[in-house]
Amino acid sequence: MSEAPRNEPVLAYVPGSAERALVDAEISQQAQEPLSVPLVIGGERIVTSAQQAFSAPHRHTLQLGQYSLAEPAHVARAIDAALAQKQSWAAWSLAERAAVFRRAGDLVSGPWRARLLAATMLNQSKTVHQAEIDAACELADFFRFNAHFAEQLAEQPLISSAAEHNQFELRPLDGFVYAVTPFNFTAIAGNLPTAPALLGNTVIWKPSPLAALSAHYILAVLEAAGLPPGVINVVHGDPGAISAQVLDHPAFSGLHFTGSSAIFQGLWRAIGERIGQYRSYPRLVGETGGKDFIVAHPSADVTALAVAIVRGGFEYQGQKCSAASRVYLPRSLAAQVQAEVRGMVAEIRVGDPTDAQHFMGAVIGRAAFTRISGYLERARLDPECRIVCGGGFDDTLGYFVEPTLVEVTDPKHALMREEIFGPVVACFVYDDHHFAQVLALCDESTKYALTGAIFARDPAAVELARTRLAMAAGNFYINDKPTGAVVGQQPFGGARLSGTNDKAGSPWNLMRWASPRVVKENLNPPQDFRYPFLAPARATLKS
Ligand code: NAD
Repeated sequence: MSEAPRNEPVLAYVPGSAERALVDAEISQQAQEPLSVPLVIGGERIVTSAQQAFSAPHRHTLQLGQYSLAEPAHVARAIDAALAQKQSWAAWSLAERAAVFRRAGDLVSGPWRARLLAATMLNQSKTVHQAEIDAACELADFFRFNAHFAEQLAEQPLISSAAEHNQFELRPLDGFVYAVTPFNFTAIAGNLPTAPALLGNTVIWKPSPLAALSAHYILAVLEAAGLPPGVINVVHGDPGAISAQVLDHPAFSGLHFTGSSAIFQGLWRAIGERIGQYRSYPRLVGETGGKDFIVAHPSADVTALAVAIVRGGFEYQGQKCSAASRVYLPRSLAAQVQAEVRGMVAEIRVGDPTDAQHFMGAVIGRAAFTRISGYLERARLDPECRIVCGGGFDDTLGYFVEPTLVEVTDPKHALMREEIFGPVVACFVYDDHHFAQVLALCDESTKYALTGAIFARDPAAVELARTRLAMAAGNFYINDKPTGAVVGQQPFGGARLSGTNDKAGSPWNLMRWASPRVVKENLNPPQDFRYPFLAPARATLKS
C-alpha cells in the first residue's frame, strides 16, 4: 500500500522572500502578455474565430486574454476524442495513472506554483495567501491524496479459498464523464475532471468562463505530467448549449459538478428527462450552494468569534461556498462582538490583490457585483436592517465591495436565508435563554446544509449544538471558522440543497467514478448437479 501523502505546506510570501519574487515576476508577465486560451480536444489546441475576452475583476483595464468558444462540431469532436481514448486509458494500471497525478502534484508545488498562483490572483482576484492555499496547496493535495485513496480502494480484500479465487476490479464507468467547474477555486477546477480520470474515465471538461486562465494552466500542468491526449478535453462556451449536447449522448455516464444549486438542479432535471437513452445510469455528483452559519453561545470567546466572522465571512470576498454568512449572537455578547468586528474591518484594505497590503480583492464580475450591491442597497433602506460596518461598493476601477456586517431583526430575513456569495454577513441577536430555540431556527431557516460552526466554551452547549445541528451542515466546526477545509483532514461537502455530499478529495468521491467488477474463478467446478439433500432416504426410515 502507498504511503499516505503529507499536506503541501503553505508558504508565507513575506516581502523579500524567494517565493514572493517568483510570483511577482509571473504576475508581471501574465499581466503584460494577454493569453489566447484555446479549446483542447484530443490533445489538439483549437483557436476558434469566436472568442470571448476577459479581464481582471479588480482592474477593468487589465485584459488577461481571450478564450475560444466551442461550436457544436467542437463538442461532438470532444466527445469522440474522449470515447476514442477511453479503452487505452482504462487499460493503464491504476499505479501508472496515479503516477501521472502524483507527478502533477509535484509540478504544482514546484515549478508551476508561481504560474498557477499568479493566474489565480489575476483571474479570480485572490490575495497571494488565498491563491496559495487554493492553487498550490489544495490542488497538489487533491492530486496526491486522490492517488493514494484510489489505491486503497483497489485493495478491497475479498475472501477466497483453495477452491476458488475472487478478485475485485475497479473499472471506470461505461462511457465518458462531464465535469463542470466553478470560478472560485482553482483546486476544485483541477479536481473535478481529474478524480474521474484517475479511475480510468475520460472526460469532457467545461471550466467556468470566469476562471479560464487558471483552467488553461491546470491542463498544461497535467500535460506536462504525462496525461495522454484525449483523457481530458476542454471546451469553453455557452454552458446551456454545451451541456444539452453532452447530456444528449448515450455514452454520458457521470456528471462531476460544483457550482450553484439552481444550475445543478437544471442539469439533474435534463439528465432525468433523457434517462431512457443512456447506456447506464449516470452517476451524479454535485457540490452546490451554502448559507453557512456561526451560532454563538453566551459562553463564547468573543475575540475568537469576531476573528472567525471576519476571516470566515470576508476572506476571498465571501466567495467561498463555505463562507460564514449568517451569525446568531446572544444579546449579552452582541455589542462587544460587533465592536470587535467593526474594529477589525476598519483595518481591512480592499483593492488590487497583487498589492500585499490588501486583505481583500474584487468580487468576480459584473453579475456578482450587481447581485451583492443590490442586497446592500435594499439593506440600507430596510427598517429591519442595521448596517454595523461596511455597506459600500464601487465599480469604477474594479468590482469592489466593502466587508459588511448587517444586524437584522427578523431571523428569517432574506439576508439570513439566501446565498449572497459576497462579503456580506448578516447577524441576528437572540435572548441568551433562547439558545435551544436558536439552534432549531438555524437548522430550519434555509434549505442549505454545507458548513456551520458553534462557538462556546461550555461543553454542554457544544454537545447540544452538535446534536441539534446534525443535519444542518456536512462540515461542522467547533470554535473555528466554517471555511478552510483541508484535503485529507476535513473531507468537504454538504447535503440538502448544498449537494450530494460525496466529499471531494476522499475515497467516498472516488468510489462514484468506478463501476467495480468482481471476478470469481472456480478451480474445482462441480461435476454433479445434485446436492446432498437429494440423496435417497435410508431404508430404516422407509419401514
Ligand atoms: P455557477 O453555478 O454560476 O457556475 C458553475 C458552472 O456551471 C460554471 O462552469 C458555469 O459556466 C456552469 N453553468 C452555468 N450555467 C449553466 C447551464 N445552464 N448549464 C450547465 N452549466 C452551466 O457557480 P459559480 O458562480 O461558478 O460558483 C459559485 C457557486 O458554487 C456558489 O453557489 C457556491 O456555493 C458553489 N460552490 C459550491 C462548492 C461546494 O463544495 N459545495 C464549492 C465551490 C462553489
